[in-house]
Amino acid sequence: MPSPKKIVLLGATGSIGENTCRVVAKHPDKLELLAIAGRYRWRKLVDIARQFNVPHVAIYDEACCEEAQQSGLFPAETQFHCGLQGLIDVSVLAEAKLVVPAIVGTLALKPTLAALEHGKDIALASKEILVLAGKFVMATAKKHGSMMLPLDSEHNAIFQCLQGEREIDVDRLILTASGGPFRDFTREQMTGITKEMALKHPNWSMGPKITIDSSTMANKGLELIEARWLFDMPAERIDVTIHPQSIVHSMVQYVDGSIIAQLSPPIMTFAIQHTLLYPERGAGTDATLDFSQLMSLDFRPPCTEQFPCLRLAREAAVAGGIATGAFNASNEVAVEAFVADKIGYLDIPRVIEKTLESIANRDPDNLDELLAADAEARNIAAEKVIALGGTVAQ
Ligand code: NAD
Ligand code: MG
Repeated sequence: MPSPKKIVLLGATGSIGENTCRVVAKHPDKLELLAIAGRYRWRKLVDIARQFNVPHVAIYDEACCEEAQQSGLFPAETQFHCGLQGLIDVSVLAEAKLVVPAIVGTLALKPTLAALEHGKDIALASKEILVLAGKFVMATAKKHGSMMLPLDSEHNAIFQCLQGEREIDVDRLILTASGGPFRDFTREQMTGITKEMALKHPNWSMGPKITIDSSTMANKGLELIEARWLFDMPAERIDVTIHPQSIVHSMVQYVDGSIIAQLSPPIMTFAIQHTLLYPERGAGTDATLDFSQLMSLDFRPPCTEQFPCLRLAREAAVAGGIATGAFNASNEVAVEAFVADKIGYLDIPRVIEKTLESIANRDPDNLDELLAADAEARNIAAEKVIALGGTVAQ
């Protein structure tokens, strides 16, 4: 029997991290955790390290890394790796086969690029990486012959729907979106949205940032840009449809008009398991759909007037260059300000729009230029927050 696939899990303490651990626990003969990484919550890493006997632990926050090392709570033979360099080091471990970047935001960009340069395959949850640096990430994967396996449920669905088909026969990609908790709100109702309301998703259980992004539909905007890079598809050929049940995870339309869809319950283990075991399949971690029960599937077009984030993301995707990174950066700044009660809910798209209007778009030649543009977009967005009456910690 072949030895289990060795996995590096960046963001092990988060929602994707937890579901990834559940999939690994379901398939101990096929999957093994070689390294886990987190930011502050090292006590949660202790539990994972003990349960799965994980030899390498990386912690971004240096003080927490030190504390974890001194705690004596990890298995005696644990090797610790601190800071961003620690995350990079575990991502290129010789035995590692697959790296799972599941860190919220763009922090996993450098570890992911390092992993690709070392020929590791990637199961990508951190969509923000592609939104910021899709051109560089995809070129690095291609150059080193590494696979970019989509772990985001929509992209994983599309990936499954493309199997065995010819690229030339694909007409368009159709991303489904739940529409979030406010899909039926009037504009007036939307003015009263609080963070407590935005942090409750009707279908999915996810981390706080993506939950808010789903409510504004910025998440679908990020996913449109993610799909543009993963499948080398122009934004004009990527549609979005609202599907409140979150059962059809996305679709591919072929030139003959046939549409192929992937279905499963709205639980992330389906997409995660597909990427971890690929190209094999194994018994599911969670129960699948039950057709002995009444089930309906509804679809309707999104309203971009109500949800401007989707329009702004599409415009950024069409513009290319640093615009998509600026969309992501300004969204992160705006969501942080909203969660800190500094701006209102409807200010989130305002901050993004004003940032995109203020930044001079250009096509960066290298990663440093791109990261400088990201920092510039964050500064501009912070100014826009202040202009809207909020304050931003420097
Ligand atoms: P989460 O908030 O639940 O977890 C975030 C994880 O990132 C934690 O483990 C945290 O320790 C880690 N992290 C944050 N900053 C870090 C740093 N500086 N160094 C090391 N680790 C750091 O988030 P989540 O919902 O699991 O989402 C993670 C990523 O997956 C995001 O990019 C999100 O867009 C994407 N994603 C999530 C879902 C979902 O269902 N939750 C679905 C698709 C895609
Ligand atoms: Mg998704």
